[in-house]
Formats: sequence, structure tokens, C-alpha cells
Amino acid sequence: MCMKLFDLRKKLKDEFAQLDIDIVDVDFIVAQVLGVPVTLLPLIEDVDDDVCLEIQTKINMRASGMPVDRIFGNKYFYGLEFYIDDNVLSPRQDSEVLVDTALKYINDNHYHDVLDMCTGSGCLAIAVKRNAPVDVTAVDVSKKALIIAKKNADKHGEDIKFIQSNMFEKLDGKFDIIISNPPYIARDELKTLDREVIDHDPLIALDGGESGLKFYNIIHDNLRKYLNDDGVLVIEIGEDQRMLIEALFNDFELLECVKDLSGHDRVMVFKK
Ligand code: GLN
Repeated sequence: MCMKLFDLRKKLKDEFAQLDIDIVDVDFIVAQVLGVPVTLLPLIEDVDDDVCLEIQTKINMRASGMPVDRIFGNKYFYGLEFYIDDNVLSPRQDSEVLVDTALKYINDNHYHDVLDMCTGSGCLAIAVKRNAPVDVTAVDVSKKALIIAKKNADKHGEDIKFIQSNMFEKLDGKFDIIISNPPYIARDELKTLDREVIDHDPLIALDGGESGLKFYNIIHDNLRKYLNDDGVLVIEIGEDQRMLIEALFNDFELLECVKDLSGHDRVMVFKK
């Protein structure tokens, strides 16, 4: 017989504290396995043995360093739940400010055609499409990522045009707004990332080449061709890349640089 839920949670929290893992993850995992909100856990006294075993299995995965979103294969972003797997970057809260910024420009300028370059899980494309009357094209080089992105679009009933392409190679047309969270970690910074990032997010979604700027360079070189004259580029950047990106896009007009919730420079907006 499994111990009382209160005692189990207490025991697991003690274990996580010893391992220096955030103890809120215990209740998150228990609630996910039971399929109830965390706030209801104090009302549950007993759990069956098989549920107890399931909780222990997930707890062990977390204890070995797997983030909770990877354990359960989903992550909330911009109020929507997304599937994730080994082929996509797990959506980051830091990127929500990119969606806010894109929606502001879309609404103010009545933009209609949106391009999401390097879509991954599709979280940016889907969050924008959900919140504005736009057409969205989403590109990724990875076929496996696009399978997840399409699954996410279907889950939320959003009709998005997905294209498998190495950046702009297979892309036609012009867009009012181009959004992108490309891989932007410089090679020698990859080894400084948290283990939970480098062990579980796909390298292809992080590796921005020697300087970290590889994909910004490609976006820069294609921008005049793919952006409408009154359009904007809204890109996510690494927290210390502002100056580098400003220099790279010096033949475009910088409209603003927006900070994320942690106060880091996170999103830059350029026009022709
Ligand atoms: N923000 C991610 C991180 O810190 C990196 C995402 C990216 O390269 N686009 O790990």
C-alpha cells in the first residue's frame, strides 16, 4: 500500500531539497500524474499503488536531471499547451515577449502575412495566429520538428502553412512581418549552458555557429527580398547580443529593443 499522499509529497520534497532540485517540481509531477490541479493535492489522502509507482518513476526521471516539460512531453507557452519532443526546443517564457511585440505591430499596422523562420515546436507561429487575423507561414529545416509543429497547430485548430526549407531556400513571396527565434548560442558558449538545456534541447535548435550569429546573417541577407517595404522583422536575441545584432543590421532601421521579464534585451525590431 502506498503511503498517504501528504507523507509521500513530504518525503519526495525532502529528497529534491537534498538534490538541490526545486521542490515545486514534486507537486507539479504528482498533480500531472493524478490529472488534477496542484491546488487540489491537499484534499487527496490516498493514491493507488500503480499511481504511486508512476509518480516514483517520473520523480526518478526528474532527479536524474530531466526537466518536467521533457518528462511529460508538453509545455505551456502564451497560455497554450504545446507538445514537445527531442526534436524541438522547449518553448521559453522569455520568448512570450516576442509574441507580444509581434502582435502589437500586427494590430497597429493591420499586417496580414506573417513568416515564422525556424519554427521548431511552432509555438510562436501558433500563438500569433491564435491572437490575430493573419496568414502564417512557418519554416523549419527539420522534418521531425515540422511534424511536432503541425501536431500543435492541429491541436489548437490553427491553419498554418508549414514549409520544410533550409532558411529561405524554398521560400517564395513577401511578408508583412517576419518573426524568428533562431539558434543563437555561440559555439564555445554551448558548453556553458545548464545541463538541463544542453542534455535535453536539440543542439540544432541552439547552435548558432562559431559566433552565434550564423542565422541572423542569413536573415539579414534575405530580408530585403522577403520583407514588404512597410514590414518589420521581429527577432529574439541572446541576452548579450544587442550590440552585435545592431551592427549586423546597420543598413536597416532599429525600431526598438524589448526586454524580457528578467530584464534582459530579448527582442529587436527592424524595418527597411
Ligand atoms: N533561449 C535559449 C537558451 O537560453 C536559446 C534559444 C535559441 O538558441 N534560440 O537556451
